[in-house]
Amino acid sequence: MNTKEILREFMLTPAPSGYEQEMAYLLKDYLSKYCDEVRIDRIGNCIGKINGTNPDLPKAMVFGHMDQLGFIVRKIEKDGYIQVDRLGGIPEKVLPGLNLLIRSEDGQWHPGIFGPKAHHATPAEEKYKVDLVTSLFIDIGAKTSDEVRKLGIEIGCPAIYKPSFTEFTQSVVSGTAVDNRGACACLVNIAALLKDQQPQCDVYLVGTVWEEFNLRGAMMAARTIHPDIAISLDVSLAGDTNDLSSKFDDALGKGACVQLYSFHGRGTLNGTLPHEPLYKLSKECAKKAGKNLQRFAALGILTDASYIQLEGTGVACLEMGFPARYTHTPVEVCDINDLDDLALICAAMMCHIDENFQINRY
Ligand SMILES: [Zn+2]
Repeated sequence: MNTKEILREFMLTPAPSGYEQEMAYLLKDYLSKYCDEVRIDRIGNCIGKINGTNPDLPKAMVFGHMDQLGFIVRKIEKDGYIQVDRLGGIPEKVLPGLNLLIRSEDGQWHPGIFGPKAHHATPAEEKYKVDLVTSLFIDIGAKTSDEVRKLGIEIGCPAIYKPSFTEFTQSVVSGTAVDNRGACACLVNIAALLKDQQPQCDVYLVGTVWEEFNLRGAMMAARTIHPDIAISLDVSLAGDTNDLSSKFDDALGKGACVQLYSFHGRGTLNGTLPHEPLYKLSKECAKKAGKNLQRFAALGILTDASYIQLEGTGVACLEMGFPARYTHTPVEVCDINDLDDLALICAAMMCHIDENFQINRY
């Protein structure tokens, strides 16, 4: 499996929350090579299934969100400029001067930029101030609102950072939507590994929708599948940049991550406490494979696993992932080797689930 090439294709595919269609069908194509069946559910989750040799065993779901951050058009000005609101956790500091793509109602993507203030005319007191996204204007080269609307761009249309993919080294890459196309690439690799290794339990590999929007698209996949076990794959904040080195230990190129605490108190009041037998299994499988498994715990972070654990009579959940730098910016960075390790460990975990696996927490 050439993970880098899969990741490149996934990162360059535009799919903000609510508009995951292109990514969902692309993932379906990839998963179809290895899964026994693949379908897209009612709200757009892509669900691949690998049949286990013993269908009476608990069912496992490994999932990662397909959607990415973006914007939604809020107002089209008479002079052709466009105002947007955030769709997901956009860092406003990085916006002025950025290249964008805006999707018209016919599904075409159109180039634009967040027009920054002319530097020569910016007063000193404004030079070090961050402007809110709601005070910025997008320039698509149109001179009137009619010109904008002729392209099919209307209030409610989504926009994204212009997709990019840059190879820094043999294994380190940078660009847009590393969060969470890195996990989508892992899903493909896990499917390929499981096709050869034949797990005993049924394994569902799921690309989910709406994570950056409301974290709850994965719930619908769980309500379709009824999993007993679920592993979410998403980015961990790499602790190897100057701003985070005093906070976290995990680093790029040092392996996959297991997340031992996530919690978000503002508004959502949710988080994930790992299912201990699953966590132990992740450690054993990493050890057997001779792979390092990095530990990560953080307050203020939330993934869609938080909502999966509450489905049915409770799902045994574990958050896993890979370290990424500069999260939610257009220049996220990850290491392909960490993605390969993550796929290897997850596939091994799936193969170790048998009638002795403990679903109850204790
Ligand atoms: Zn994510």
